[in-house]
Amino acid sequence: MSENCIFCKIVAGEIPSKQFYQDELVSAFQDISAQAPVHILIVPNQHFNDLGEMGDAQADILGRIAQVAGQLAVQEGVSSDGWRFVTNIGRHGGQEVFHTHFHLLGGRPLGPLLAR
Ligand code: AMP
Ligand code: ZN
Repeated sequence: MSENCIFCKIVAGEIPSKQFYQDELVSAFQDISAQAPVHILIVPNQHFNDLGEMGDAQADILGRIAQVAGQLAVQEGVSSDGWRFVTNIGRHGGQEVFHTHFHLLGGRPLGPLLAR
């Protein structure tokens, strides 16, 4: 748990969220400012500032995140039309919360990957 990290507090249940999934490695919860009908954040329970801090030692966590994303896409009804799974890193990536998280987005055509 990292001091003052909002996602650590959500994982710990200290800040309320709409939770979609939680196990010993990962948690998934509703993005507070959803940009698509389905906008779920999937995070490691342990604090890492971003994906760049995670490596071979976290292969189990990263594998679980990918697996849970696929399951939630099915559960939330976006698997047939398609969805997007992205993580932002650092300043150029536009990262705002410095606890690794992946955005699962779907439920409408998502447009180009990058703003033009
Ligand atoms: P990023 O720009 O990739 O760091 O994304 C951060 C995301 O966290 C944004 O989509 C925010 O809407 C979302 N967010 C910020 N605070 C909360 C919160 N308390 N609960 C859920 N999502 C949040
Ligand atoms: Zn954290």
